[in-house]
Amino acid sequence: MIKVYSCPKDLLNGPCGGALGDSCEVDGRRCPWTSLLERLPLEPWMLFDEHPLLARLEGLVESDSRPKDSAFWRNISKGRAFSVEFPIRVVRSSGDFLEVVNGLDADLVTVPDNPLGYPHFDPIALATKLKDTGLKAGVMPHVTAKDRNLSALASELRTAQLFGFEAVLLTTGDWPGLSMPSRPVFELDAPNLIRLARLVFAGVMPPGYRVSVEGRPRVAAAMSPHYRTTLEVKRLIRKLVAGAEVFFTQVVARRDSVAAIREILGGIREKTKVDVPVVVSLLYPLRDELRPFLERMGIPVGGESFEELLEEVKSLDDVSGVNLILLADTAGEWLSLWNETRKLVREVFV
Ligand code: SF4
Repeated sequence: MIKVYSCPKDLLNGPCGGALGDSCEVDGRRCPWTSLLERLPLEPWMLFDEHPLLARLEGLVESDSRPKDSAFWRNISKGRAFSVEFPIRVVRSSGDFLEVVNGLDADLVTVPDNPLGYPHFDPIALATKLKDTGLKAGVMPHVTAKDRNLSALASELRTAQLFGFEAVLLTTGDWPGLSMPSRPVFELDAPNLIRLARLVFAGVMPPGYRVSVEGRPRVAAAMSPHYRTTLEVKRLIRKLVAGAEVFFTQVVARRDSVAAIREILGGIREKTKVDVPVVVSLLYPLRDELRPFLERMGIPVGGESFEELLEEVKSLDDVSGVNLILLADTAGEWLSLWNETRKLVREVFV
């Protein structure tokens, strides 16, 4: 096991998705993981550092459970999966909630977890509510390893399975202290959270008992097209070895980032002979005043329009779909953006 003592999140398989270039998202010092991972050989024993408790649980797995059938996954194989992020910031009343839910007809609704460390709706609770309200789309809460220890994460994953969620998106998570002075907890990193999900979905719960299971959510992980290709290929191979089945990209806001996705997928294919499904995240509308904010977050922005980026994404041979993040101030504004952009996406992808 490689221990990097100067990583504030104590990651075993870094870097996390928050490294800005080679700088740590927490305090700006040099991220030790970015250069270390690039130098590590791709030997089998180097692929994934497993949390010791999870390694012990491996022996209890009898078989994987059947993935839940969903429109999202059927459309992944056709290269036209369509998801949209639930607008947590604009829902301020039960009326807003119902208005948004009734207007949603994507394959999948993703539910973010406290973006940038700001407290918000609990993603598992909100996904459960969405299911209960008769949402036409599937649900995919983001489950992050920040601020939850291993047992809290296991119970969230068990809930996602028991309530029939279509997918879970598993990431390390943002440092909570970025926005407020709350005490951070990082017991697992993204690859170990992915491995924990595969154990729980196979009916193995920590500290070591079995439960019966019927079906399971798909396991999604995050991809950054903004990291160096050699680094990102190795980061994603660790997630694949841990059990990821599909990648959702960070926001793509320029043509070069689409080209980077192509290169990363080529690198993974070359090393593993595996074709991984990728869903590309696009932001709309991409206003000029957002540029400095996105660039501070490590997301480069180009001059292309939304339609041009969409065409560029479509030109990727191996793209499996599009994930939309719409920026609005009210539920009504969000719904009109949704009606506008879903037409554009469907014209290009269907
Ligand atoms: S950027 Fe992430 S991986 Fe790198 S040192 Fe900071 S917390 Fe650790």
